[in-house]
Amino acid sequence: MLEMPRVDLEKCTGCGTCAAACHCGAIVIVEGKATIIETLKCGWCSVCEAVCPEGALYCEFEIVIEG
Ligand code: SF4
Ligand code: SF4
Repeated sequence: MLEMPRVDLEKCTGCGTCAAACHCGAIVIVEGKATIIETLKCGWCSVCEAVCPEGALYCEFEIVIEG
């Protein structure tokens, strides 16, 4: 299963900053809360986590380059 960003619904204000910043169109605002709709679209860039002013998004994945 693919790891996706998690949304802390207690912290999320529904401001839409993450949805606007997500270049993959993987986030929409549903009933005032950020919702990850397209798990296969997520490019694991962590931009949403970086731009959220409330610290409500958590990207638990990390890119590991082996070699
Ligand atoms: S940027 Fe943060 S507070 Fe704003 S909608 Fe996204 S998760 Fe919620
Ligand atoms: S990690 Fe990147 S691609 Fe995935 S939801 Fe966040 S901003 Fe969009």
